[in-house]
Amino acid sequence: MSVAAIVPAAGSGDRLGGGIPKAFRLLAGTTLLRRSADAVATSVDLVVVAVPADRRDADWRNAAVAALEGAACPTRVVAGGASRQASVAAALAVLPPDVDVVLVHDAARPLMPPAVVAAVIAAVRAGAPGVIPALAVPDTLKSVDASGRVLRTVDRTGLVAVQTPQGFRRDVLERAHRADPGVATDDAALVEALGIPVLTVPGDPAGFKITTPYDVVLAEALLGGGR
Ligand code: C5P
Repeated sequence: MSVAAIVPAAGSGDRLGGGIPKAFRLLAGTTLLRRSADAVATSVDLVVVAVPADRRDADWRNAAVAALEGAACPTRVVAGGASRQASVAAALAVLPPDVDVVLVHDAARPLMPPAVVAAVIAAVRAGAPGVIPALAVPDTLKSVDASGRVLRTVDRTGLVAVQTPQGFRRDVLERAHRADPGVATDDAALVEALGIPVLTVPGDPAGFKITTPYDVVLAEALLGGGR
């Protein structure tokens, strides 16, 4: 049984700023792409990265190849798409035939601990078609209108925030992407849309997604603290 990880890294990262795709931003001297790939590379047989397919795609491809040099497993770089979903689909299309478990891990989650990656893989190997790391939601949740006025308080019982890597049986993920019910913010949503069960395993707060400049400060502090 061979395991591949897809790392969609084709997002613009507009919320982070800086004028370059988020995956190529440095975090304590190393790209987010390399750190996120490293989070999964020791647990899988292949990492496939999707880079921006814009007018500088050759530059991003070269930058990704350079960033991934010396990774713990073989790597491949493909051109991504206009949506996260399209980027994952482009990477799925190049997986070798022997891969039967696929992880999808955001290029923006550099600090996800290996134990969570291992738990996701183990649960898929144990028979779950789809597995995602999840965390309880600590804050009170409100539904608001366009002007920010509170409409109601949302009961957070039974709500979780989900992270990556998300793990799937390869045939399940391929079917989900073929069915393509529209733009989804994670791969599990595509699998759920087919009525296929998705399980959760405990996530880790360290696996937070780098989205804003504050997240960079926090991640660099954690790295400086010896993580
Ligand atoms: O924008 P957001 O942080 O939600 O993106 C999640 C992941 O999806 C990031 O790793 C980003 O690079 C990736 N992505 C992609 N192709 C897109 C949009 C986002 O690979 N067109």
